[in-house]
Amino acid sequence: MIPLADAQSTILDAVAVLPARMFALADARGLVLAQDVVAGEPVPPFSNTGMDGYAVRAADTPGSLRVVGELPAGRAPTIAVGPGEAIRIMTGAPMPDGADAVVMVERTRVDADDHVVVEAARSGEHVRLAGGDVDAGDSVFQRGTLLTPAHLGVLASLDVFEVVCHPRPRVGVISTGDELVERGALEPGRIRDSNRPMLLALVDELGCEAIDGGIVRDDERAITEAVERVLDSCDALLTSGAVSVGDYDYVKLVLERVAGERGGLSLWAQVAIKPAKPLAFAMLGAVPAFGLPGNPVSARVSFELFARPALRKLAGRADIAAESVRATARSAMPRRTDGKLHLDRVRVWLEDGRYVCERAGAQASNVLSGMAAANGLALLGDGDGAEAGAEVRVLLL
Ligand code: AMP
Ligand code: MG
Repeated sequence: MIPLADAQSTILDAVAVLPARMFALADARGLVLAQDVVAGEPVPPFSNTGMDGYAVRAADTPGSLRVVGELPAGRAPTIAVGPGEAIRIMTGAPMPDGADAVVMVERTRVDADDHVVVEAARSGEHVRLAGGDVDAGDSVFQRGTLLTPAHLGVLASLDVFEVVCHPRPRVGVISTGDELVERGALEPGRIRDSNRPMLLALVDELGCEAIDGGIVRDDERAITEAVERVLDSCDALLTSGAVSVGDYDYVKLVLERVAGERGGLSLWAQVAIKPAKPLAFAMLGAVPAFGLPGNPVSARVSFELFARPALRKLAGRADIAAESVRATARSAMPRRTDGKLHLDRVRVWLEDGRYVCERAGAQASNVLSGMAAANGLALLGDGDGAEAGAEVRVLLL
């Protein structure tokens, strides 16, 4: 058995960030910038009012001022504010010449004869200066920034509608097993494929493009063909099943052979963890392939520990390693000493700002309903487990 950290670092060292290219802004949400963005213009582009009210000369306030015009947002000022004058102005409208402050409408009262009585204003009050958000020449975002909807808004405000990013990894997902069927009646000995829908959803949730490679029979040639077919259109590949020591466990052989043909490393390891001990990994040229175990809980855990960090690295993300939180065990979590790190399915919740956790359902590696009931994996180091009230580390799912 090899330690978890060794398997993880072997994989991460082998995986390279996908080459960057140009993307339309509309396609860039969730992508990682591969360029620095420098503002070519100021935001806001002109000084404007942050309030509905009256544009005034602060020196004239408080006082009764003559209203000489009206400025809605979107209109350019045509007249200036002279001494003793005010212009009715709406939020977002440009500041007219002469005015240096805005008195919000709630602090004013319309007098007779188109005059307005305004309270005292400081120079600059409620004025949003040109470039006050971003100035021309400012370095706005650095390479490595993960683009969220707010980033896209800022880029649009700067008239940046194309950005150089690392692409969203395209990830193929294949299930293997003669026993697997998708829908309909079950013949004797058959079960339904639960790994593929789960893995496709995990890939999608991670912001990658999921590519369904279907179910493949336990046949070395069929697995080779399926892997090679998916490989051409993918940046990464996930298979499940057939990586153990059973008589029909061909995935590890196929990954090893294709990696050899394409000049990449391959690894077939028993990792010192439970669940998800067997792992096949190979670089099929530049494409990392993960032979995840067949038991659904193991496949889910293996995805979390090995595939998720690698897919993040492909996408250019800096937050690659999963961070664990500290939680208090609500009830005891006993385990046997076996030389492995155990990853128990737990429910985690906050009580008075602190995490508390408790085992979620049955812990066997074939019981996927326990996984569905969990929102965390408690990391129980080798030994006899955690007592009630003990602190444990938990990976949040
Ligand atoms: P294997 O590693 O191929 O021997 O599979 C281990 C266990 O996981 C067996 O009980 C398989 O039937 C089961 N299994 C494998 N693939 C899937 C799948 N896609 N969906 C549900 N169960 C699976
Ligand atoms: Mg199998």
